[in-house]
Amino acid sequence: MRIDEENKRVYVRQSWLGDALLCMERGRRMMVSPEFRVTNDSAMLGTATHAGIEAVLRNSVASKDAHFVSVAKLNELQLGDDVRVTNIDPSTWEPLVTSMTKAWVDNILPEVPLGGSVEHKFEVEAGRIVSGYELWFEGTMDYVHETGVWDWKTAARKYSPLEKQTQNIQSAIYTGAAERLGLTPNSNGKFMFGIMIRSLKGDTQILSVQRSQPHWDWVVEQAATMIGAYLALRVGTEFRTPMPKNDQHFLCSDRWCPWWSVCKGVHIQSKDNQLGDN
Ligand code: SF4
Repeated sequence: MRIDEENKRVYVRQSWLGDALLCMERGRRMMVSPEFRVTNDSAMLGTATHAGIEAVLRNSVASKDAHFVSVAKLNELQLGDDVRVTNIDPSTWEPLVTSMTKAWVDNILPEVPLGGSVEHKFEVEAGRIVSGYELWFEGTMDYVHETGVWDWKTAARKYSPLEKQTQNIQSAIYTGAAERLGLTPNSNGKFMFGIMIRSLKGDTQILSVQRSQPHWDWVVEQAATMIGAYLALRVGTEFRTPMPKNDQHFLCSDRWCPWWSVCKGVHIQSKDNQLGDN
């Protein structure tokens, strides 16, 4: 969430909204102490794989060589900031990035309609005023074609189609934004996930979800109520007041929450999470 005081606008990204819906304190920390965030291995592998895909779609590399671009990006990322190792053995990083990029070329690229826009940045007005601020969405579409928006994912396992259709935030925002910006006149509300499974087997999945006006209305409602709660507890222009701390989801752990050490980790150490004998 980003506030433009001059134009009285609040900008929301889908990733921030998703995290804030799971834990409002995590959403607040993302704004006030972003320096805690360290690249983790799964995000790094995703970014590296995206680089090869992007190069193919921009026609800057032949598809058979895309994995070289991905591995070069991986090497560059490893030279940068510290990388938090979660549960992916570092000796597998390069083979995984190579395998996932090749899998995209072999299984997903043939299904992608060419001629679209790559890494398309957008801002779109949601059509709601919250506490005197216009609500806007912003983000970057991995790939947008007149027939629909595509997003590339690297994931540990295949996605549940029903879960994505019923709950996914990104597709609601991106499909609604693309339609409002005139980018997808022939999409009929289609949003595609092109998923590379993080394994050496080269498994992939293409998952299509359908989005329409009710999905847009609901995600605007979710964002507006969330923003309203943050703005109500703002002190001046700062978000100093701690927010509800929800640990009832998978991101609340030493491994997956950068703010663990100043939040739940203040109270709970790993020994407290050991199962007892009884
Ligand atoms: S440690 Fe858990 S409760 Fe605290 S900010 Fe992170 S996700 Fe929320």
